[in-house]
Amino acid sequence: MAGMDLTWIELSKGALEHNLGLFRESMAEGVRLLVPIKANAYGHGLAEMARVMPSCGADWLGVHSLQEAMIAQDAGATCPILVLGYVPFEGMEEVVRRGLRVMVTNWESAEALARIAEALDERVAVHLKIETGTNRQGLQGRDLLILARSIHTSKHLVLEGCYTHFANIEDTTDHSYAKMQLERFERGLEMLEKHGIRPQIRHAAASAASMLFRETHFEMIRPGISAYGLWPSRETYVSLLQEGRSSFPLRPVLSWKTVVTQVKEVVAGEYIGYGCTYRTTRGIRLAILPIGYYDGYDRGLSNVGYVLIRGQRAPVRGRICMNLTMVDVTDIGGVDLEDEVVLIGKQGEEEIKAESFASWFGTIHYEAVSRLPHHIRRRWVA
Ligand SMILES: *Cc1c(COP(=O)(O)O)cnc(C)c1O
Repeated sequence: MAGMDLTWIELSKGALEHNLGLFRESMAEGVRLLVPIKANAYGHGLAEMARVMPSCGADWLGVHSLQEAMIAQDAGATCPILVLGYVPFEGMEEVVRRGLRVMVTNWESAEALARIAEALDERVAVHLKIETGTNRQGLQGRDLLILARSIHTSKHLVLEGCYTHFANIEDTTDHSYAKMQLERFERGLEMLEKHGIRPQIRHAAASAASMLFRETHFEMIRPGISAYGLWPSRETYVSLLQEGRSSFPLRPVLSWKTVVTQVKEVVAGEYIGYGCTYRTTRGIRLAILPIGYYDGYDRGLSNVGYVLIRGQRAPVRGRICMNLTMVDVTDIGGVDLEDEVVLIGKQGEEEIKAESFASWFGTIHYEAVSRLPHHIRRRWVA
């Protein structure tokens, strides 16, 4: 039901519990489950997800920024939170006071953090990212060793974890590059161990690696997209079959909905919307939807996308406007004011998957869901 909202996002708690349960079943005893809630929890709602994740099975939460960690804690998350992105010097006192765990990639940050921790008589848990071939954040060789040593010898820093991130597991069914990255990760860890440094928590696996390769689990896994019930890619699905692993019946957590706000007849030969990009070839019935590109219904969906109304597909006609979209409901019987419209999700026998929705405007579901606007209300359903 719409309530007072023109558009809203439904979050299934049952689906979230189910997905985290699948990961839990696939993990060895004692392995931790970190769920990334960065990017507004992949568009699902940062505060909403932070509040329920621990009771749904997450042991740790992962965020990109200090601000996200603060929102998560203020929403009630008391579990360990790891900041996976850069923390500015200005933010370090907050990190220490809040007991957050952080990734560090340079000695200036490590030193500053140690100084602040000392002043507050606290200790900060640090995770180092080992460069293995993704070549974004991360360190290798001498740089890694120097930083690891300075953290290891600091009284106010604890080198709690070391991690890495795979470049292409979800892009291919050929996992030789990932295997090479895993070897580099292990070599990096061995090098540290030779110097007496043995981080307690090693972690490497995002969704695809978590599902496909048990040997990447170490002491913690970090599945993001699949915690929310979406497959990283088709290739991951195929790889799982090829590996002969048991199935992973993920359930999408998110649905996106709106309502019909007007239905009207338009005669043949009329144009629809800005730019007159669509012209009717017959008399049609048009439904007006109160959402547009401002609401995250991408302009690339103009004359391309479809929505579900009364369990049937209604194609978009004309350009998506700032707050309005027009769809053709000629062949759907009895469409009425305030009928529920599904933009992403299931209705009756039909389903619009986040993957299809994203592909209609030339992107991937990761981007499509994470960019769903903050102003849309998130509501929990069973
Ligand atoms: C985002 C992210 C993940 C989660 O990746 P998915 O493909 O969504 O599972 C894991 N680890 C790190 C470091 C990340 O930044």
